[in-house]
Amino acid sequence: MRLSQFHLHTTKETPGDAELTSHRLMLRAGMIRKLASGLYIWSPLGLRVLRKVERIVREEMERAGAIEFQVPTIQPKDLWEATGRWEKFGPQLLKIKDRKEQVFCYSPTAEEAAADFARQELNSYKQLPVNFFQIQTKFRDEIRPRFGVMRAREFLMKDAYSFHLDDACLVREYENMKAAYARVFTRLGLDFRMVQADSGAIGGDASQEFHVIADSGEDALVFSTGSDYAANMEAAVAAAPGPRPAASEALRKIDTPTQKTCEAVAALLGLGLERTVKSIAIMTEAGFVLALVRGDHDVNEIKLGKVQGLKGYRMAGEAEIATHLGSEPGFLGPLNPAKPIRIVADRDVAAMADFVIGANEAGFHIAGVNWGRDLPEPEVADIRNAKEGDRAADGGELRVARGIEVGHVFQLGRQYAQALNATVLDENGKAAVMAMGCYGIGISRIVAAAIEQNHDDAGIIWPDAMAPWQVVVCVINPKQDDAVASAAAELLAELQAAGLDAALDDRGLRPGSMFADMELIGVPHRVVVSERGLAAGTFEYRARSASEAESLDRDALMAKLT
Ligand code: ATP
Ligand code: MG
Ligand code: MG
Ligand code: MG
Repeated sequence: MRLSQFHLHTTKETPGDAELTSHRLMLRAGMIRKLASGLYIWSPLGLRVLRKVERIVREEMERAGAIEFQVPTIQPKDLWEATGRWEKFGPQLLKIKDRKEQVFCYSPTAEEAAADFARQELNSYKQLPVNFFQIQTKFRDEIRPRFGVMRAREFLMKDAYSFHLDDACLVREYENMKAAYARVFTRLGLDFRMVQADSGAIGGDASQEFHVIADSGEDALVFSTGSDYAANMEAAVAAAPGPRPAASEALRKIDTPTQKTCEAVAALLGLGLERTVKSIAIMTEAGFVLALVRGDHDVNEIKLGKVQGLKGYRMAGEAEIATHLGSEPGFLGPLNPAKPIRIVADRDVAAMADFVIGANEAGFHIAGVNWGRDLPEPEVADIRNAKEGDRAADGGELRVARGIEVGHVFQLGRQYAQALNATVLDENGKAAVMAMGCYGIGISRIVAAAIEQNHDDAGIIWPDAMAPWQVVVCVINPKQDDAVASAAAELLAELQAAGLDAALDDRGLRPGSMFADMELIGVPHRVVVSERGLAAGTFEYRARSASEAESLDRDALMAKLT
């Protein structure tokens, strides 16, 4: 690949409306261009990365025994009505009419179509188990499409659907898929965690998510240091025994937003904390930190404030919260249960939290409040005593981290197959409804998530497996010096023959611009061929993640790269 024959279009300017680093860098590197809200064009550069992710996912799915198929993206309404999801999926489902006034949707996921295929194709238990997968465009009319391809409306997903005669077989395939997912994310070179999850609109019995760990992630995850307990906060809160009815009752009485916030905090504290609490941080989607506990002297003061300049939906550290609220040193202290609680809303707290997390170092109390922007019922839960990972139970500490959901596996059971009458004949010749599993990976989201995890001030730092090219040979002044150009071409051929995905930057840019481009687009290995180097018999090599370049002769270079 010669970059003079390719299309690269990088920019220095940071686009104004891109909040998230990955979104900014993908635009600056010229990987994506916006077509409309939540709809992105993948440039040739971006597509190279997307295809690498896709290939690894496909290879690991095939290695795990899944078989590729493909269903249409446009699907008939009656199929979705049969499972009740035409309604249940809600406004995320894009509905379309054809010229005959027949109604369709654009597939946001494909359990129905997969079950329809299974009922046509599978007749006997002897054909089971089987797992069909596709890598296909999905559309969800997200309420807030944002962060570029991270939360787009049209996106690329790998979705797989497995079919089984009995539950034990489903559980085995579920474990097999989890292992395959772990191989995918390991091969991609990402720092990831698997966590317990809520099954959401897809439904089913058991479900787990795979998250790329990144501070900017939209999901809060809880881990224990004492066991392998790890859960999405939503699932942790949902699973927790807690005085929800009382808290819901308290929330229902509230009318003004400020009061609602205060009451919610009171409800949290009213859960009866036995341990001391150092701070409660309340984060809203709009990026406000709303509360702090002042646990000093004669009162426990909860200070609520609207915080400027904090963006995104995440946890903040105590120090950061204190800074943003303009608190004096020593403001934070342990809550004293013997003293009254005073709530101070000293600024205009107009925006409401839709998910509230309180955490503290002293007691590892974590609580969630959901005012139900999407849910009908407000919920408050206290997972302090949850059977899952409390300090006392496993001896460890609960830790909170942020994650980006990149994969999700579900044991669906028989709900879809039942609704669509997908049966096979069992050993006794009797019709049996098949058990189903489904397994998703957000291929396009992975590209953005990888950047969130791997970047610096100069740009993207791709893990080798995802890079548009593993190595780029940069030629200094190619046209004026044939010896340099031909040495570079020779090196390129040699790298390619060694199995590397290599390119030659023969665009004739000044070294500074050329290097800046390669750093921005995240090429993991750079080799410079120059007249001076040739005279000395060396190439200048630099790993994207290294601070210094090194001079290597051909053998040392090849040894380094292969
Ligand atoms: P989220 O919680 O982020 O909305 P989800 O739980 O709705 O995701 P699933 O139904 O589990 O998503 O779909 C499988 C995978 O598809 C997700 O794990 C995620 O990686 C990806 N995905 C879902 N929605 C989007 C989107 N709007 N843009 C890009 N990828 C997405
Ligand atoms: Mg979603
Ligand atoms: Mg989710
Ligand atoms: Mg999910």
